[in-house]
Amino acid sequence: MGRRQMWRKVSSIPQITYFKPAGIRMAELEEVKLLIEEAEAIRLKDLEGMEQEECARRMNISRSTFSRLLDSARKKIADALLNGKAIRIEGGNFEMATRRFRCLEGHEWEVPFETMISTPPEVCPKCDTPSIMPLFPAGIHRGGHGRRTGGRR
Ligand SMILES: [Zn+2]
Repeated sequence: MGRRQMWRKVSSIPQITYFKPAGIRMAELEEVKLLIEEAEAIRLKDLEGMEQEECARRMNISRSTFSRLLDSARKKIADALLNGKAIRIEGGNFEMATRRFRCLEGHEWEVPFETMISTPPEVCPKCDTPSIMPLFPAGIHRGGHGRRTGGRR
């Protein structure tokens, strides 16, 4: 199926997820959408200065996939910077290094990436309720995921 290979491990999500050039009216503003995993690729390679091999390992993807991700991220950022477009950071096929869950009763716990992609939790480990939900950092919307909802739009 290959779907699992699409999960990219992300250990940091940017706090600021929208950048807008000064002096351009909203109506005329074009927007570039940078995926969360593209932002992570830039962070590891360009900000932290890691080798591509290491970056790919950290994100749990092949080196060629990482390379494509990085190219795509750089191209989008260059496009925004040089053509005066806004950047919105959101969506993608990623999973956090650890994901926090909360159940209906208010219990919270963390699930590591490796568990998330193999056997995501179905019930709360404390009270066994199936009414659980993942907690996302504020302002993050994911896209292209569709595991539970079945398919993409
Ligand atoms: Zn519970």
